[in-house]
Amino acid sequence: MPVLRLSRIEKRTKVEGPGLRYCIWVQGCPIHCEGCFNPHTWDPNGGRLMDIDEIYEDIKRTLEASPELEGVTFLGGEPFSQAQALTTLAQKIKELNLSIVTFTGYEYEAILKSPNSSWHSLLKETDLLIDGPYIQSQHDLGRPWIGSKNQQYRFLTDVYKHLEAKLSEIPNKLEIRLHPDGTISANGMAEPIDLHMLLELDYERRR
Ligand code: SF4
Repeated sequence: MPVLRLSRIEKRTKVEGPGLRYCIWVQGCPIHCEGCFNPHTWDPNGGRLMDIDEIYEDIKRTLEASPELEGVTFLGGEPFSQAQALTTLAQKIKELNLSIVTFTGYEYEAILKSPNSSWHSLLKETDLLIDGPYIQSQHDLGRPWIGSKNQQYRFLTDVYKHLEAKLSEIPNKLEIRLHPDGTISANGMAEPIDLHMLLELDYERRR
């Protein structure tokens, strides 16, 4: 069974795609967008390795505990750098009747033209693709889940087609978690100044 190099997992979040989702931030991104919110996910040797089966079992347990879970989101890091392993995982996830949302810093057209067959396989398992690099000069939080105007939503199956005309009604949100050990974590989208303040707050709490 293949393994995935990942940065982080959040078992339940409502800010990384439609509905309640299990989110997997993969580790490693060759795109290096200026102003990226997750530069700690760039190093292809960082993060940790986890067996696909182990992740799948955790998703199953999460679904049993939270039947309202509607899907899994792949983001990063760059999911298409680990397309083979994610395709295998996505195929298993689909057996649970969960949807797949995939974020990528590559443009959809480039993925379509790619000779890399695993990129096409991952597209085939994806219901909603959100594509394009983060471009700092086009920073815009006016649409859900994304950070710049150039990024696009590609409804590759009918699962989320109904949202296409309603995207402007879905707000971009940030989730903040205070953990029992006093640390703070966040995911979702926020202005860089707000994220900076959050990091400072976390630093103060740890002192
Ligand atoms: S593609 Fe995503 S993770 Fe990679 S550098 Fe750009 S914003 Fe960051």
